[in-house]
Amino acid sequence: MNEDQIIIIGAGPAGLMAAQQLALKGFKVHVYEQNKAAARKFLVAGNGGFNLTHSEELESFVQKYEAEEIQNIVRSFDNQKVIQWLEDLGITTYIGSSGKIFPTKNFKPIQVLKAWLDELERLRVTIHYDHTFLDFDDNKVYFKNNDQDLSVKYSKLILAMGGGSWKKTGSDAKWVETLTHKKIQITPLQSANSGYNSDVKFHQLQGQYLKNIKVSFQENHKIGDIVFTKYGIEGSPIYYLNRFTRKHDFPVTINIDLKPNLSEAEILDQLKETSKISSVLKRNLKLSTTAINLLKTLDKESYLDIKNLAKTIKKFPIEVLSFRPIDEVISTAGGVAFSELNFNLELKKFPDVYCAGEMIDWEAPTGGYLLQACFSTGFWVGNSISNS
Ligand SMILES: Cc1cc2nc3c(=O)[nH]c(=O)nc-3n(C[C@H](O)[C@H](O)[C@H](O)COP(=O)(O)OP(=O)(O)OC[C@H]3O[C@@H](n4cnc5c(N)ncnc54)[C@H](O)[C@@H]3O)c2cc1C
Repeated sequence: MNEDQIIIIGAGPAGLMAAQQLALKGFKVHVYEQNKAAARKFLVAGNGGFNLTHSEELESFVQKYEAEEIQNIVRSFDNQKVIQWLEDLGITTYIGSSGKIFPTKNFKPIQVLKAWLDELERLRVTIHYDHTFLDFDDNKVYFKNNDQDLSVKYSKLILAMGGGSWKKTGSDAKWVETLTHKKIQITPLQSANSGYNSDVKFHQLQGQYLKNIKVSFQENHKIGDIVFTKYGIEGSPIYYLNRFTRKHDFPVTINIDLKPNLSEAEILDQLKETSKISSVLKRNLKLSTTAINLLKTLDKESYLDIKNLAKTIKKFPIEVLSFRPIDEVISTAGGVAFSELNFNLELKKFPDVYCAGEMIDWEAPTGGYLLQACFSTGFWVGNSISNS
């Protein structure tokens, strides 16, 4: 047994993966978690379909992350390795129709977590619940536990406290203030995998879906389903565009192609056939009721001008005003800047202190890419320490 005292803050996927790697190499690992249970956000992710990674071919997979640093880390512990790791825990997986990878139906999210925690127990990882991280210095880390202050010595410290959404899961991002105080640059946390607030005229479509449409912003686009809500729009193609719209000031205009498999000219040809526009939209073009309702938000003149209508069916503009509030979105962009970290994800200003998971400044769409990067960074930090 290696006598180094490894302390990990945060029992989410990133912290637990680092713990497993280090324990496998014979280190004594202590994980400190402020909740009374591990990985609450991991379980929340399981509520809406537990997609743990994606089957996409690696080179296009890593393009989902903008930061090159994270691309390399994901390459080192990739989707195939996640599948193998799950198998080693006794969790079999399957590829869903959209390429997402899920545990097979006989495994509920809580069973996946239990299998993982059982393995950590077998490896003698100790998890200390109800311990809230407050601060650290060169060799000690400070906690609050049941109103009592305590400090623990560390030889290596791993910070894996997550992003800032869904605070009730424990990821309250209070670490931002602590690290900022230590002059560590933090890219401000922002909503990611977020719906957009839109112009009020679309709110009347609340609850209606558009399926298999193409949503685009500039040259970036994604096919899928979206839903109108009381404030705007939600859906995976919308989340995909977050990363690109973020670089511009709101409001920005995104476009919807309501008929991706037909060209504008083909649509116009159909519209020319009869003066009964609504009948062409429904019968010939087979547009859904929601798509037709959306077109009806146009002013009368634009709707009746068939050239304009054909163009708008291919490129319906929706002005979006802002992201949804951080607390309700799936993840956050921003976090510890890569400029503060060395190759091993160790803080340059605090040697022996490492970061992993969503608290680092990267973002990715849903579809398994978030959890993948959390597993990969946890693995990377664990390996960096054990190889050092
Ligand atoms: C609704 C929802 C759906 C999602 N769906 C998917 C999906 O389908 N696919 C996907 O890939 N990802 C999904 N995610 C995202 C994924 O769950 C997160 O990216 C991932 O859990 C982040 O892992 P992490 O280990 O970095 O941090 P977290 O999972 O946030 O864990 C951090 C841990 O640190 C603890 N902590 C924080 N501060 C302190 C402190 N001061 N002291 C002690 N402990 C502290 C927290 O309590 C928490 O347990 C979803 C998220 C949500 C909210």
